[in-house]
Amino acid sequence: MRTRRALLSLLLLAFLAGAAAHSAHPLSPAAGRLAAYLRLDTTNPPGNEGLAAAYLAGELVRGGIVAERHVSPEGRVSLVARLPANAAPRGGAIALLHHMDVVPAGEGWSVAPFAGEVRDGMLWGRGALDCKSLGLAHLEALLELARSGAPRHRDLLFVAVADEEAGGLQGAAWLWEAHPELFAGVDLVLNEGGANRAVLGRSLFWGIEVAQKRPLWLEVIARGRPGHAAGIQLGSAVHRLVAGLARLVERPPVWKIDPAARAYLAAVGRLDPNLGRLEADLEAVIAPEGPRRAIPPGLPSLFLDSLQVTVLAAGEKQNSIPAEARALVDIRLLPSTDTEVYLAEVKAALGPDLETRVLLAAPPSAPTPASGPLWDRLVAELRDEAPVVPVFLAGVTDSRYFRERGVAAFGFSPFFVEAEPMRGVHGPDERIPLAAFDRGVERMKRVVRALVSAP
Ligand SMILES: [Zn+2]
Repeated sequence: MRTRRALLSLLLLAFLAGAAAHSAHPLSPAAGRLAAYLRLDTTNPPGNEGLAAAYLAGELVRGGIVAERHVSPEGRVSLVARLPANAAPRGGAIALLHHMDVVPAGEGWSVAPFAGEVRDGMLWGRGALDCKSLGLAHLEALLELARSGAPRHRDLLFVAVADEEAGGLQGAAWLWEAHPELFAGVDLVLNEGGANRAVLGRSLFWGIEVAQKRPLWLEVIARGRPGHAAGIQLGSAVHRLVAGLARLVERPPVWKIDPAARAYLAAVGRLDPNLGRLEADLEAVIAPEGPRRAIPPGLPSLFLDSLQVTVLAAGEKQNSIPAEARALVDIRLLPSTDTEVYLAEVKAALGPDLETRVLLAAPPSAPTPASGPLWDRLVAELRDEAPVVPVFLAGVTDSRYFRERGVAAFGFSPFFVEAEPMRGVHGPDERIPLAAFDRGVERMKRVVRALVSAP
């Protein structure tokens, strides 16, 4: 009898423990969908965005919304769905944009990067922050709005694109070329690029990206006579490439005060006295040859065109001279830098022997003004939690394809995530805290509802 009772209570304990372990991190329906999305391997290259598009289209159809697949000539799939206004129109459409592709997982993960695993109250996987969580928040906002029947004075677009991580040529750029009608009348795009700051559980500010750098991606090619490595060949392809690249990377950087950097420092300086002092003193501190006093880490990229040689390729055998050597160079230009002038300087440094091919370039585009009715509406939804700061981003996103054509774009993330998990973006152990994700999804619903009902 006693043994039986003991056994029963043991079983009960085991059951409770199991239930507790399980309920410690119960997944919300949205988080469950994010886990499923993370399990679709959309590593770019090759992208395989068709997998993700099929999944998202299925979720949309379940909510009564038909999405259209658009396939680029190289077979890359993007997805667009439209929820039309159901009340008197008060303006153009709002587009919710995210990219379905992710960068390769790389080494150093403590979980399988495409398992959608929950551990320590977080959902782990490549894309958890960049940017499948954002896409899921967009999806939830659209589905809820469709369900609720709340008045919508604007069309709402859900746009999931391919290929952002490789520059967007088969995604956003191609969609604009092949189907500009999709974006006719769009007043505002909400996209990735938001840079919110949270420290020790405190939300410091919402960073809404309004300006960014422009990519200039180059391939540099050297050619020479192939042969046996024992021969004397000072001007081999590899030697010429290495010498040219050395001249390129040894040029002293030129520091510049871009209007976008100044505007950002003025805005964030109101919250951070250090940055406020820097902004007040900018001409004195930032000289062309470098800052005259130490500036906070992270800021130099806002004053410099960045140049990184990222890929080198030549030869297969130690004792043969290859006929060709190549390098890939990733350059990010400040908004005010002239692409042609910069490119001419690069070519001059590389020298006449080397061929330079432009793989990706972007025309200049004006920042989106941090003002106007839609900005005000966004700020009104967010400011109770933290102040809102318009941000100049050192990276690049698909927003440039919209800004180039005069369409306003805000980089807005609804999530507050602290610095440690944020290190997973493009690195190992990318993950999003479930609580931050669920709160962010609710915020996105609120923000989108407010924007489509805005006067
Ligand atoms: Zn991204």
